[in-house]
Parts: sequence; C-alpha cells; structure tokens
Amino acid sequence: MKIIMLGAPGAGKGTQAERIAEKYQIPHISTGDIFRANLKAGTELGKKAKEYMDQGLLVPDSLTVDLVMDRIAKEDCKNGYILDGFPRTIPQAESLKEALSARGEALDYAIDVNVPDENIITRMSGRRACPNCGSTYHIVYAAPSKENVCDKCETALILRDDDKPETVQKRLSVYHEQTQPLIEYYASAGILRTVDGTRDMNQVFEDITDILGA
Ligand code: AMP
Repeated sequence: MKIIMLGAPGAGKGTQAERIAEKYQIPHISTGDIFRANLKAGTELGKKAKEYMDQGLLVPDSLTVDLVMDRIAKEDCKNGYILDGFPRTIPQAESLKEALSARGEALDYAIDVNVPDENIITRMSGRRACPNCGSTYHIVYAAPSKENVCDKCETALILRDDDKPETVQKRLSVYHEQTQPLIEYYASAGILRTVDGTRDMNQVFEDITDILGA
C-alpha cells in the first residue's frame, strides 16, 4: 500500500502516519524527519535545509526530490510506504508520479487530514519535540508521562524553531500557496480521501483505517 499524507503543518498527519506505518507494517517516510536527522548529524544537506526550515519555507525541490526517490527505491519499500510531508508542491507530486509509473506503480491513497487554520495555531504552540530521538509530543493532546521529558530517551523536550508562532504563520501561508493545490490534484486522480482532523486522535485513526481497510 502506497499512501501519502496531506494536511497543514500541525494537522496531526505525522502522528497518524506513525500509527498507520505500525498497523500496516510499512515504512513511515517523513521528509521533515530526514532533514532534521541531517541537521543533527551536521551534514551539508542538513545545513542547507536549515536555512529554509527556520524561516518556515520549503526546502528547494532540487534537495528534496532525489532524496525521496532514493528512499522509496529501497528494499523495505517494496510492499509500500507512507509518505509524510512529501509531496508538498505540484512539481514534487509530478516527480513522484513519473518515478512510480516508470516502475509500473501508482499511489493508492492520498489522505488529507483537514484542520482549519485557527485550530492549527493553537495546536502548534503546544507541540514539543525531543532534540535527541525526534519523538514528538503535545502538552494537551499527547503529553509525555513525565512533564517535558521524552518518554523514550528521557531527554528534556523543546519547542522546535519551526513551531514558534511567527514561523507557524509563515508555514501556513506557504502551505496554502504551494501544498493545498495538491488536494485538487489528487482529487482529480481519484485517490483523495479526506478525514476530519479536528476530531480526537484515536477517532481520526479509526476514520483512516476505515478508508484503508483492515
Ligand atoms: P515537517 O516536519 O513535515 O513539517 O517539515 C519541516 C520542514 O521541513 C518544512 O517546514 C520544510 O521547511 C521542510 N520540508 C519537509 N518536507 C518538505 C518537502 N517535501 N519539500 C520541501 N520542504 C520540506
């Protein structure tokens, strides 16, 4: 099963993608996580990506597309995968489509986790991330068991630079301009499915599994 997740930053698509990956035993590929891992490891890619990420802008397609194409060509992706945060532009979607059709493949579903902007702003101010292992939490919706400490590795949690309110506003406008057109794009392709992302996290997950099937 090849799935992509659509939705504004902070719509909860990352959390849902993780759960889908676990349930259906397919890799969860998050371009944001890949960039952050590169940043942490101090690679050239990480340094270049940071310049854009910290401003709430998209990393250029020239740095993003090949990275994803190489990743989905790996052995563990042969039974499918879930892409989270890619594609984010029409050219990225076109590149993905071409790479897949060259192998006689196609996406199965594009799942849009729909959340209005007002909710996004409130939600993102509550996000916290582990600077060590990358796990993400929310002070209200997905709190760690010990306040402000990562459940997995016990590191103190942080508010990521790109989750700060001024950056969130910028990311939302970038989303509306560059990523939202993908909703129409995948609707025309007949694979768009929309879920109401304002509902409880478990309910959203149920809605998604109803779409994907047992
Ligand atoms: P995310 O964790 O998916 O919200 O991604 C964090 C940041 O990484 C975004 O704000 C972008 O700067 C960058 N990024 C992630 N995925 C992409 C992509 N497909 N294209 C361009 N930039 C991306």
